[in-house]
Amino acid sequence: MTEKEIASPAQTRAILSAHGVVPKKSLGQNFLVDRRVLERIVAAAELDGETAVLEIGPGVGALTACLARVAGKVVAVELDQRLLPVLAETLAPYPQVTVVHGDFLALDLPAFFAEHFAGWAKRAVVANLPYYVTTPILFTLIEARDEVPLFVLMVQKEVAARLAAQPGSKDYGVLTIAVQFYAEVDYVMTVPKHAFVPRPQVDSAVVRIRCRPAPLVDVPDEKLFFRVVRAAFAQRRKTILNNLVHNLIEGGNRATAFALLEAAGIDPDRRAETLSIAEFARLTHRVHELTTR
Ligand code: SAM
Repeated sequence: MTEKEIASPAQTRAILSAHGVVPKKSLGQNFLVDRRVLERIVAAAELDGETAVLEIGPGVGALTACLARVAGKVVAVELDQRLLPVLAETLAPYPQVTVVHGDFLALDLPAFFAEHFAGWAKRAVVANLPYYVTTPILFTLIEARDEVPLFVLMVQKEVAARLAAQPGSKDYGVLTIAVQFYAEVDYVMTVPKHAFVPRPQVDSAVVRIRCRPAPLVDVPDEKLFFRVVRAAFAQRRKTILNNLVHNLIEGGNRATAFALLEAAGIDPDRRAETLSIAEFARLTHRVHELTTR
């Protein structure tokens, strides 16, 4: 079945009902039925016949079929057993697609990539994510960035805004920094609720996440860097000085926090949301010096 036939509200409903499948909210089952959106997702992933794609959650296969037309290989991991016979039918015309039954978060990823992607130099992840597991999937992918460095993901619009945010915006926070430290993020497009069957409660957006060959900035210790970032954002409305005093410096010593900020060239009255990732790195260097002295 081509994606033209899958990706319409009527056809998706007909496929589901022919197989007696009622979409499960608990598995984030909102199926894409807008061909324009599917095309934009595939274009954003810059695929060609040399590229192998990992898809998380193929659903009824609308995106999978689109991917199969341009990529050399597609491996799609689906948790819901009820969708396996559906996928066997909708993806029958695409021998380059392998469907794997399982929970993406429970996979042994090194073994998975060795089994399915060995010999494929160009790799990408493309997924309309089940929103209930967006963050764990995102961090699992970032950890596996050496295996596959490019992800094109549909996420909740509000999450996309946080991922792509710049300093000074209300969306800029711990999630922004945790991802932009390792990757460049592009906001590709906003996707309205009516592009899905059934309609989700929130709008969505597509982001492209391209992992960097090395983190954006040099830090002495990544764990410490993220401790500093989390402490700085603990109470968004407070100044960076107050957040460091209450959430980072043992014993809450104000003079120490002040001296650290001064040494890092950061005005203590600023709020964390105005600091660039480079400024957080500078601050981490000073904290590291203090703790290893
Ligand atoms: N790709 C399809 C599309 O665009 O229409 C379906 C996307 S739907 C938002 C998310 C899919 O992920 C569902 O098919 C759901 O069953 C599947 N899923 C949910 N949790 C999963 C998990 N932990 N591992 C793999 N697939 C999962």
